[in-house]
Amino acid sequence: ERISESDAVAVIGLGRFGQALALELMANGVDVLGVDGDQQVVQGLDGRLTYVVMADATREDVLRQLSIPEFNRVVVAIGQDIGASILTVSLLLRFGVPKIWAEAVTEAHGTVLEQLGVHHVVFPEKDMGRRVAHLVQGSLLDYIPLGGNFAVIETAPREFLAGSTIYQAQVRRRFGVVIVAVRKADGEWRFAEPNLLIEEGDELLVAGPARKAEHFSRR
Ligand code: ADP
Repeated sequence: ERISESDAVAVIGLGRFGQALALELMANGVDVLGVDGDQQVVQGLDGRLTYVVMADATREDVLRQLSIPEFNRVVVAIGQDIGASILTVSLLLRFGVPKIWAEAVTEAHGTVLEQLGVHHVVFPEKDMGRRVAHLVQGSLLDYIPLGGNFAVIETAPREFLAGSTIYQAQVRRRFGVVIVAVRKADGEWRFAEPNLLIEEGDELLVAGPARKAEHFSRR
């Protein structure tokens, strides 16, 4: 079985974040080449990724041998060892890999990655911490920041809206957010058509500027 470098994703660093990411890609039918310097980590993932290789990703000859320059999408999920993260990323940039994602563990790490020219810097712990903070705070069931201060949220039932249709609720005018979908007691999501009736117990999927969405969820 041969991997197609243009469709597959290379995940370098298979710690908690890299592993979860690689397995989720596999579950969604995407081929994954996993690379990690730790033999036990590699053994633990044997057979669960399309390929898993033990290798030092900071070495140019190693990355070339693995055809990493041919990949369209590479994720560097090396968090703790900032030196290794930066060396790996700079090689990928030199190869001209079109889409690079890199995990950052601190602000400084993130800043350096951005200065190097990484296309997508992610802060898994910080992002998850923020997200859970929103959930702990209030009547939010889920919170997905979209960047640019926009968010999608899933709220617990907003009883003050029960009995109105989407059209009558006028949430865009009143709260500056849009109801995208409504989850009924049967567990099914419905698109928020203007004449859909909001009932007690309905969960709402809402999109809008993050602060307005939060304000709406506390209403
Ligand atoms: P997480 O917080 O996601 O668990 P870690 O930084 O703890 O992230 O894990 C990073 C993974 O990257 C580890 O499994 C480690 O073995 C691997 N790793 C670190 N340096 C290299 C390197 N130079 N080459 C390949 N893999 C590496």
